[in-house]
Amino acid sequence: MKIAVLPGDGIGPEIVAEAVKVLEALRREGLPLALEQAPIGGAGYDACGDPLPEATLRLAASADAVLLGAVGGLQYDLLPRPQRPEQGLLRIRKGLGVFANLRPALVYPELAAASALKPEVVSGLDILIVRELTGDIYFGQPKGIRNNAKGEREGFDTMLYSESEIRRIAHVAFKAAAKRGGKLCSVDKANVLETSQLWREVVTAVGREYPRVELSHMYVDNAAMQLVRAPRQFDVVVTGNMFGDILSDEASMLTGSIGMLPSASLDAGSKGLYEPIHGSAPDIAGKGVANPLATILSAAMMLRYSFAQEKTAARVEGAVRKVLAQGLRTVDIHEPGSRQVSTREMGDAVVAAL
Ligand code: NAD
Repeated sequence: MKIAVLPGDGIGPEIVAEAVKVLEALRREGLPLALEQAPIGGAGYDACGDPLPEATLRLAASADAVLLGAVGGLQYDLLPRPQRPEQGLLRIRKGLGVFANLRPALVYPELAAASALKPEVVSGLDILIVRELTGDIYFGQPKGIRNNAKGEREGFDTMLYSESEIRRIAHVAFKAAAKRGGKLCSVDKANVLETSQLWREVVTAVGREYPRVELSHMYVDNAAMQLVRAPRQFDVVVTGNMFGDILSDEASMLTGSIGMLPSASLDAGSKGLYEPIHGSAPDIAGKGVANPLATILSAAMMLRYSFAQEKTAARVEGAVRKVLAQGLRTVDIHEPGSRQVSTREMGDAVVAAL
């Protein structure tokens, strides 16, 4: 089980070190993990003048899974676009062909008060958003800015999905739903968009192969509303790149803390890129206070999706629950009455709970 570890910038190295601690603990127990580090983002630029050094992509391509921290920093913001840290992230996602982005939004009972919504609306929430990551209006051609017949500038993009692209993301979502609560909601805008009409047809057809999963369809505007009105009605949500971009950020805020949310981006096999959903948090970098739990939970997703170690993944998630129940909190989730701990103390506590 070869893992490429790419800490990146800002708090990246701090939070990744804690996830590595958890993986090392599992390795000592006998899990055959092999970890190798490489620079990405600003760290890649500093080391080799490229946010995705060739050696880093080679390592990631040859590994079974990639654990990534975060990229970005003020000192890189004035670089030409191809050299900026974010390009490293976009290129590695594309380079690895990871088209299925899985983002769980889970509200731990201990943290329900941190949500922007009332605890009774979000308590016990457990949603998985499956977002298509490599197609749609973000990549469709043609796109550009041109002069129209009246000599006025106009901007245009192309929303585009092929049947095969829809089919492969639908399979990922149906399989995930079959392993969870057995409910899948496909989100589109089929009342207006042709792309969505095809999306709905193909998802429905794929659904016939999963008779045990209950499939429903919802327009994206309604989904945006239902996510804040009654989010617990959802189990798994599948949607395209743009709708998923927006809805997954909305869903993440139901949980209250960006420092708690993991993600997985998967290819057609079992390879995945696992990273917390937050950025490099330059405002707290180097202070040892960042929350490492999103990264540790990303490592748990890696054990589940790339290495089929469901039991071990659940054990890591259970350990995270346990430290929260013990009242341990990093600064982002701290509240009166809880014990504030550092990044390192939180990692150590998870290892101890394991
Ligand atoms: P951010 O997610 O880095 O930070 C937003 C806020 O949340 C900050 O106040 C930060 O301190 C806090 N925060 C984030 N993660 C935390 C954690 N684990 N523990 C405690 N607090 C945490 O977003 P931003 O400030 O908009 O962006 C900062 C940099 O990160 C930029 O350079 C941006 O481009 C980059 N970025 C990278 C990624 C990525 O690598 N996937 C994603 C988003 C932003």
